[in-house]
Amino acid sequence: MTQRAGVIGHPVAHSVSPAMFEAAFRAAGIDATYEAWDTPPDTLEGRINALRGAGFLGANVTIPHKEAVAPLLDVLEGPAQQTGAVNCIVHRDGKLIGHNTDLVGFARALREDAQFDPRGKSTMLLGSGGAARAVALALIEGGAGVIYVVARQPRKIDRMVVDLKPLTRTGTTITWAYWGDGSYLRSLQQADLVVNCTPIGMKGGGANGTPALDPKWLRKDALVFDLVYNPQETPTVRAVKEHGARAIAGLPMLVYQAAEAFRLWTGIDPDTKVMIEAARGALAA
Ligand code: NAP
Repeated sequence: MTQRAGVIGHPVAHSVSPAMFEAAFRAAGIDATYEAWDTPPDTLEGRINALRGAGFLGANVTIPHKEAVAPLLDVLEGPAQQTGAVNCIVHRDGKLIGHNTDLVGFARALREDAQFDPRGKSTMLLGSGGAARAVALALIEGGAGVIYVVARQPRKIDRMVVDLKPLTRTGTTITWAYWGDGSYLRSLQQADLVVNCTPIGMKGGGANGTPALDPKWLRKDALVFDLVYNPQETPTVRAVKEHGARAIAGLPMLVYQAAEAFRLWTGIDPDTKVMIEAARGALAA
């Protein structure tokens, strides 16, 4: 029987996941299809329950359902449990297991593509949503010295820091600042790594074409990691490179978090070169 997987979100018409996963299934010789399942919030429960049927490998979950799916699953594992955000569901014998593969995807892209070791480093995250939580956990695991979260809703950032503090180890400090008051700019000048965990700069987003930060505050040896992957060279990446600092956009992370989902579903490590080419093609189309 042809197996099935797909992405659950709303909207999902422009998702590059079908292209990435279909290419990976083909390359691995696995008889499976991957669909874009547009799922308005009031149909989420039915969509999730359908995954318990025979032939379903599982699903990826994207905006706006990453937190809403958690209570609909049988168990959450690892980073999904720690962050409360699920971006991958694995089906096993009628049971649904929630995972978060953003942590693994970010850590791999930081290590392999940016060649950056966070151990002891001063880091800053812009944004306090689901992706920011996964990135913060990856930096905690990587032994970052300082994790400074900057976002626009004080109560929400405080909750994120309170949740993550117990997970930090000796040598890692996690703290936050309100984006609006500008006090974070002093820390920005000291940051070795800045991660944009907001959609600022995303194609079709509200602030289309705007970088997430003013690069004049950055040290020239700083690295900026922009989670945004569409366009492939984002406004933030372009502005930071023009300033003379290093920058990487979100496409490698997108592919690696998808590769981790593929491994969880099939037990096989997919060919990420095939996936990155397919994602580039879908983004260019
Ligand atoms: P999310 O849960 O909706 O969180 C978005 C965060 O960005 C929130 O803190 C939000 O602030 C903030 N934000 C949104 N617009 C803003 C603006 N104009 N100014 C300041 N802050 C703003 O989304 P997410 O799942 O964390 O995803 C965030 C971004 O990362 C998206 O662009 C997503 O596509 C990207 N992403 C990429 C990958 C990858 O593999 N490359 C993986 C995951 C996510 P409020 O809380 O105040 O609304």
